[in-house]
Amino acid sequence: MSEEKNDVLEKIVSLCKRRGFVYPSSEIYGGFGAVYDFGPYGVELARNIREAWWTAMVRDHENIVGLDSAIFMHPKVWEASGHVSGFSDPLAECRKCHTRVRVDHLLEEAGVFADEKMTETEINALFSENKEKIVCPKCGQKDFTEAKAFNLLVQSNLGNFTGDWTKEPTYLRGETCQGIYVNFKNVLDSSRVKVPFGIAQIGKAFRNEITARQFIFRKREFEQMEMQYFVHPKQAEAVYEEWRVKRFQYYLDLGIKKEHLHWHQHENLVFYVKVAWDIEYKFPFGFKELEGIHNRSDYDLSQHSKFSGVDLSYRDPQTNEKYIPWIVETSVGLDRTFLAVMTEAYTEEVVGEDTRIVLKFPKKLAPVQVAIFPLMKNKPELVEKARKIFTMLKKNFRVEFDDNGNVGKRYRRQDEIGTPYCVTVDFDTIGQGEDKTIEGTVTVRDRDTMEQTRVKIEELEKYFL
Ligand code: ATP
Repeated sequence: MSEEKNDVLEKIVSLCKRRGFVYPSSEIYGGFGAVYDFGPYGVELARNIREAWWTAMVRDHENIVGLDSAIFMHPKVWEASGHVSGFSDPLAECRKCHTRVRVDHLLEEAGVFADEKMTETEINALFSENKEKIVCPKCGQKDFTEAKAFNLLVQSNLGNFTGDWTKEPTYLRGETCQGIYVNFKNVLDSSRVKVPFGIAQIGKAFRNEITARQFIFRKREFEQMEMQYFVHPKQAEAVYEEWRVKRFQYYLDLGIKKEHLHWHQHENLVFYVKVAWDIEYKFPFGFKELEGIHNRSDYDLSQHSKFSGVDLSYRDPQTNEKYIPWIVETSVGLDRTFLAVMTEAYTEEVVGEDTRIVLKFPKKLAPVQVAIFPLMKNKPELVEKARKIFTMLKKNFRVEFDDNGNVGKRYRRQDEIGTPYCVTVDFDTIGQGEDKTIEGTVTVRDRDTMEQTRVKIEELEKYFL
């Protein structure tokens, strides 16, 4: 990580706090590792991202339906999925400063590839072979304990009123897609879908992540946006390629530059995953996974058939063929998308003697689309007119009324929250200025060009649309 790149992340973190996008959780108690809260503008941005994803996946596809499954599920789900036995990361501790580290990540940073499937013994062998290259990110020492497989599932005592809940835990889901798999039959029986079809879901997931770094890139409570597409085994390969194309285009449509996106193909896959590519984004700390696209074969439905005893195969109504559908999965984190959108939008521009910070969000994602200012807050005629415009525009746009401080300060604030347009009601608007010919017009200021135009009030809606 270069200093300059870290610097950008720090600036984004600071802006997120200062302008109410993201706060550290329980901050008055000193924060809570790798857990964050969305503030007033963050919650709006997150909603707009969810909406963009839902539109691209559900609304735009006749054969994709939505689902909202519960966070808690039968504990057997996590046995069937393999999470109880195999959902772990290799954890070691620095003997000097006791910082916990993810060995696979440290190996990767040192240029040594650690396979996800490696056993504890294999990881430890690789770890000791490369001892000299691996330093503690906190104190710089090279003395670590052995790596231990650390299970990432978060446990709870839900429903266990008598026994030792650590022995019979229920889990907070580690991924949202299991809720989709176990509802495959319900959706099939209760809606009009036929294979090929997809089920999409947005929801919280929980992982006991070992390292809490890189802001909201790696959270312990995060949100996933996942779509599982059920296909005939013979179609899986072609369908997979179609989804790769669509998902890449989705990010371009979100305003992300092509050169900030990368494809990364996984090698050494677990046996049931036939092919896996990640879409990586150029975060301030380098290219990292934003979304995973996987061809998961018939593994998920087969496992749940086996563990539940319920047949999850599909009978084709036309050919009568019976088979377990294969699954093509697209899985992205809301929080990572949020950070990608923030990174992409963050801009510093020199204007005269000042540096202007501006978030150049695409208009559909901006938390506030139009800010409306009365030039002065103690002139009732200006305030009244501005309120009328607010009421008119709020039907079609996300608007904010702002009468705090001078107009220059308000522009600066709106730039920092990424508002594409500011509307100012001044004395000319209400016919009390010098130029009577522009009565009934307002100043519209463009966030990106900073240009100001006079627009008639009754044409404002059309102008913004
Ligand atoms: P990583 O290798 O970075 O831990 P992963 O391969 O475990 O990620 P998946 O299990 O494939 O991730 O989850 C799908 C998506 O969910 C990821 O592409 C990412 O966008 C998001 N995601 C996973 N873990 C986290 C997390 N701890 N915080 C925020 N988002 C996450």
